[in-house]
Amino acid sequence: MMEQTALILIIVTLFLLVVIVGLLSILIYRMFKTGTIVATAGKPANHHPDISKSDLHPGIVKRIKEIEKIKPKRSDLFCPNHSEEPGEVMCAICDKIYCKSCIKSFKTLHFCKEHLPLVMRHDWEEIVTVKTATHDPERGVRLYDFKKEIFEKNDLPTYIETHYKINVDSDYIETYLVMYAMKESTEKIKKLLPENILT
Ligand SMILES: [Zn+2]
Ligand SMILES: [Zn+2]
Repeated sequence: MMEQTALILIIVTLFLLVVIVGLLSILIYRMFKTGTIVATAGKPANHHPDISKSDLHPGIVKRIKEIEKIKPKRSDLFCPNHSEEPGEVMCAICDKIYCKSCIKSFKTLHFCKEHLPLVMRHDWEEIVTVKTATHDPERGVRLYDFKKEIFEKNDLPTYIETHYKINVDSDYIETYLVMYAMKESTEKIKKLLPENILT
């Protein structure tokens, strides 16, 4: 009986000790935090502290430089026609992101005011169909790179539609990217098409 009482006493003491240590830590943490706020209150707010890059691990420095490179410009985030409106929808031809009032839907895609008439006034033909899969997105990426390249360098507009097909046997959805171009430019584009997109 005596032994049991002693055991209970020890447990209670230990429990109290844990509680006291916990409370003390919270108190110290709060004091420290308040102290930090007081210490920085005099300085102007600095949202991007300039950490000396030489103090950082080379891998981290490399990553920072990569991020700095892809930092979006203001013009990429706002509608090209309305500098105060955030861009929301991408034109399927020029890939620029416009605000909702500057973009119109046509078929399954969206086009800017400049490119919608182009789509509506011409006959568009299929250039290539690329089958993609989530585990192998490379071919799709190459197709989008090709689209961007011929638009910027050769002034050849194209758009890419995504088609889905359910494979009944394996109960699996297949994704196809279908590239379209204006009838008069199809031959030219087919000649430019890189081998690695077709195979
Ligand atoms: Zn456009
Ligand atoms: Zn706009």
